[in-house]
Amino acid sequence: MTDKMNLTRAQFDEVMVPNYAPAAVIPVRGEGSRVWDQQGTEYVDFAGGIAVNCLGHCHPALVGALKEQGEKLWHLSNTMTNEPALALATKLVEATFADRVYFANSGAEANEAALKLARRYAIEKFGEHKVEVIAFDKAFHGRTFFTVSVGGQAAYSDGFGPKPAAITHLPFNDIAALEAAVSDNTCAIMLEPLQGEGGIINGDPEFLRAVRRLADKHNALVIFDEVQTGVGRTGDLYAYMGTEIVPDILTTAKALGGGFPIAAMLTTADIASHLKVGTHGSTYGGNPLACAIGNAVMDVVNTPEVLDGVKHREQLFRDGLAQINEKYHVFSEIRGKGLLLGAVLNEQFAGRSRDFLNASVAEGLLTLMAGANVVRFTPSLVIPEADIVEGLARFERAVAKVAG
Ligand SMILES: *Cc1c(COP(=O)(O)O)cnc(C)c1O
Repeated sequence: MTDKMNLTRAQFDEVMVPNYAPAAVIPVRGEGSRVWDQQGTEYVDFAGGIAVNCLGHCHPALVGALKEQGEKLWHLSNTMTNEPALALATKLVEATFADRVYFANSGAEANEAALKLARRYAIEKFGEHKVEVIAFDKAFHGRTFFTVSVGGQAAYSDGFGPKPAAITHLPFNDIAALEAAVSDNTCAIMLEPLQGEGGIINGDPEFLRAVRRLADKHNALVIFDEVQTGVGRTGDLYAYMGTEIVPDILTTAKALGGGFPIAAMLTTADIASHLKVGTHGSTYGGNPLACAIGNAVMDVVNTPEVLDGVKHREQLFRDGLAQINEKYHVFSEIRGKGLLLGAVLNEQFAGRSRDFLNASVAEGLLTLMAGANVVRFTPSLVIPEADIVEGLARFERAVAKVAG
């Protein structure tokens, strides 16, 4: 059918809302960490669908789960529960601090639930005054109006009329600013333990400890947005496990479905008890098909083999990027953790991450940006070493073109 329709990139501008500017090529097939476009050109995938394809493309365990559940039961709605949802929730509870799980379809929806729950909890427990959300500059929490307003880039939330109120933004990793801002009106402090879209910026251990301490002092909740850092990305199942603090609410999405849309909000039994019947919901949340795939993802990723493999692959990336930098002097540092890495462009190449991305595509490599100054790498957690070597060789050719 699609062959006869002769679909082209040009048609995007005729039939799609123009809120994206996709690349000129159209991928049609993926296997592991390789992707092929309509013309049969092959690419090494260091982007992983923005940290989503944690097991690469068409991993047999995920295809198997999709096929098996696809012939059993697709959807019921939340008037009934289902076995895949119960199994996945049990796995998430057993593997984390949490006692309760709420399923959603996207990172923004999981964050929306987290923010509504934090407000509800604070209002019911402490009173109507306790609604202030503290968040951070450059943070990204999704594109619903509440979550994008909590996010730290005003440009994304401007121009849509009145914004949700009682949201305070502070510089990330600034303990003094946080100390000055948190009060008994604060209901939650929301952050990514490692900022992704904002430029791959690690939360300082001391800052994270201050977040926990000040939240406790003022009866505020700590919400970790682990939509990008979760499900093995940093080498821990969840990034908080590699910090010294435990959040009260955690959101997870992207890699949880390995490419199938699913998200979850995790929390404690006490906090969860404030989202009573009818207070919040989603038609698709906990859908059996999505949860069946989420179960398969968890079974593969939450193993020492895969998680240790992330740390090993991180080192391969760091060594390879350091070698490229010795020759071409384009990066000031490599930031991030595990397979969420950012190569920060030095002053000479400031603002040019898009040039590196475009040059990479021309060399047969998919990468990402994290703002104008950072080239971001979020490959499959199980990317074969040979694909890392080949992808880095292509990246070196791209760097040579931009720098040369
Ligand atoms: C991608 C992302 C989101 C939004 O997820 P969607 O599925 O696009 O709604 C939220 N928070 C973080 C940290 C993300 O990286």
